[in-house]
Amino acid sequence: MSNLLSVDEALDNILKTIHTLSQETVTLPDSLGRIIAEDIISDTNLPPFDNSAMDGYAVRFDDITSASESNPTQLNVVMDIPAGTAPSKTLQTGQAARIMTGAPIPDGATAIVPVENTTDNWQKGDSPPLPESIEILQPASDGANIRRAGENIAVGGTVMSIGTQIRPAEIGMLAAIGCTHVKVVRKPKVVILTTGDELLDIDQPLSPGKIRDTNSYTLAGLIEQVGGIPVRLPIASDDMDSIRNLYQTALNEKPDMLISSAGVSVGTADLVKVVMGEMGNIDFWRINIRPGKPLAFGEIQGIPFFGLPGNPVSAMVTFEVFVRPALAKMSGTKHNPLTIRAVLQNDMKSDGRKTYNRVTIEQDGDTYLAHSTGIQSSGALMSMVLADGLIVIPEDTKFIPAGTELSVLLLRQLS
Ligand code: AMP
Ligand code: MG
Repeated sequence: MSNLLSVDEALDNILKTIHTLSQETVTLPDSLGRIIAEDIISDTNLPPFDNSAMDGYAVRFDDITSASESNPTQLNVVMDIPAGTAPSKTLQTGQAARIMTGAPIPDGATAIVPVENTTDNWQKGDSPPLPESIEILQPASDGANIRRAGENIAVGGTVMSIGTQIRPAEIGMLAAIGCTHVKVVRKPKVVILTTGDELLDIDQPLSPGKIRDTNSYTLAGLIEQVGGIPVRLPIASDDMDSIRNLYQTALNEKPDMLISSAGVSVGTADLVKVVMGEMGNIDFWRINIRPGKPLAFGEIQGIPFFGLPGNPVSAMVTFEVFVRPALAKMSGTKHNPLTIRAVLQNDMKSDGRKTYNRVTIEQDGDTYLAHSTGIQSSGALMSMVLADGLIVIPEDTKFIPAGTELSVLLLRQLS
């Protein structure tokens, strides 16, 4: 197998040539799922002021050290502090202020007593008149139920770092510090090229010798899944003019990446290879991977180009292994594949190439069990439909007995 390029070498070669795209500014709600293109530093303390974590009474904690059910401490209620208002005075010894969750702590107060620990029968949502005095039934520690200014994030703190994906939690924090717009990395626009005289589009009836194009649909789905913008072009037939035309149409789209499937097998007289060679600077690799040994990679007019194998499973597996990390880098982040260790439940054969077989995962206590999906043909896309993940058989292995623990690249969340 020494004449084959290793998976890691191939991926290194690819990533070396991929650059992160430029930035664009989007509104905060539109930033979900995008990759942030700058560090976000808070210019505000959050919360901006000390505030109450409970509905109850603001007190001086040293006033109520001896409070109990049988011997309550009585305090004079001197103000009401609903949320959204500012306290009007300083709390003196012997005084309490009725306060709502989120309302600012008055000067002088050192603890909040929850309403349940008082004789007040005030229920949330009611607005009964302010009592003149209140009985406290339990002591409170210094600072009890007070949320301090800046405890969530302080001025100068990092809310999120460049290269992070914006999730709902980040959107919330960005909202809290008043970011109306966010700088994110542009979404990669990826044109998908499909060629083959045997291929029909999905609305065509099958006829002898023909199959329906599936790769352009799976690839479009994968591209969208990683946050790219897929553009599918009509199928080109296997003649020089159609293929040249297809590549020209693709370039006219001004894409950030080009992906074709089919036509890269070593020894095939596929015209696609000729056109790729004419138009760009493409290497035809034979990679130590199964499925997906033949892979073309390079650039056409400066645009990164992947020529994936035509077999539907090979196209998807090589996307997972090579294209996904490249698109992540373009999008300004790093691809961290989700992997688990699982115990293989069937004997598996390989040919010494690094092999990605389709498996379902069953959980057995603390252990994951991996079952083959059955047929592992690189043309049988049902194996991908059934699969929870790809079990990775290392290089230079011809036989893996059941019971071996291996790594599995997850393709979906386990239920
Ligand atoms: P090729 O590399 O053109 O020899 O194609 C290898 C295999 O992949 C053949 O069985 C093709 O029919 C199949 N194939 C190529 N392109 C597609 C496609 N877009 N959708 C489904 N199968 C394809
Ligand atoms: Mg073909």
